[in-house]
Amino acid sequence: MRAMLLDQPNQMSLETLDDPKPEEGQVLIKMTHAGICGTDTKIYQGKIPANYPLVMGHEIVGEIVGGDTTEEFKVGTRVLVDPVLFCGKCFHCCRGDTQLCPNGGIMGREVNGGFADYCVAGTTHTYKLPDEIDGKTGAAVQVLTTVLHAQDNGGVGEGDTVTVTGLGVTGLMHIQLARARGAKHVIGVSRNAHKREVALALGADAAVTHGADAKKAVLDNTGGVGADVVIECVGAMPVLAEAMDLARLGGRLIPFAIYPSGKAELPFYDLYFKELQVLNARAAKGRDFEECIKLVGDGSVDLGALVTHALPYTELNNAIQMLIEPSDERLKIILEGV
Ligand SMILES: [Zn+2]
Ligand SMILES: [Zn+2]
Repeated sequence: MRAMLLDQPNQMSLETLDDPKPEEGQVLIKMTHAGICGTDTKIYQGKIPANYPLVMGHEIVGEIVGGDTTEEFKVGTRVLVDPVLFCGKCFHCCRGDTQLCPNGGIMGREVNGGFADYCVAGTTHTYKLPDEIDGKTGAAVQVLTTVLHAQDNGGVGEGDTVTVTGLGVTGLMHIQLARARGAKHVIGVSRNAHKREVALALGADAAVTHGADAKKAVLDNTGGVGADVVIECVGAMPVLAEAMDLARLGGRLIPFAIYPSGKAELPFYDLYFKELQVLNARAAKGRDFEECIKLVGDGSVDLGALVTHALPYTELNNAIQMLIEPSDERLKIILEGV
């Protein structure tokens, strides 16, 4: 098969590899759509440890073409792949925290992933994609599972005032999901006017820029109290500090972005004084896939609106350059099978 092989950081090309061999319990999948995200960019640049040479890609949709097929997962079935691997035996797996398994990994990081003609996955890690979800949209569902997992950890629900800082792909998913879970007020914060417009179109009550505007919008919508939950999706320390400021006394802070810097200046005293609960989330659980497929299938969350670009997977190098360069209009890039 052909695959985009990352030999070492910053060096990737289209190569011919042996077809992956499905083991017992695994099916062979012909990739039709695979999303690319910031994690891929960081792996490409060598900023996240990975096993080289590597086929990246962890947001995978495809069609079963062989392997250990079952009644439910037979040849021709369109599936979404859960890329989170786990041992199923350790302390964390036994507690149901499969996303934290120290013996696990992620397809496209520790083992080969989706930016290739074929990949393999266990039928424990495949989910049927219903007809109402097209492949392009389906490839973004894996991202939604991480958003859902974070809102579960953060207890986002009915009656909450939710503020989301950063209105990229994940921020716009958080806005829609909070709305779907019955949040009372949803406020988006971004310096980008176009993304603020998209947030309003997708159900935000208000979309404002950072700083004084954000503070005013949050106080106006909460009778001067502050947000119950602030979900930070930018990944910059000054914005994390702003998120701490926007949360109410006793509020919850979900630092959803990844903060690679080991050093930070933050108003740490506020953590104590405001009695803030900081709730992190990593990856997602298998059950999150079923719930997300439902939310997208019934229209509660519109992922199609977030896909702005689609190109053949053989153009992965171009797609990574697009992701690295800042853009006002670009949201999700999906790579297609060829
Ligand atoms: Zn991703
Ligand atoms: Zn485990």
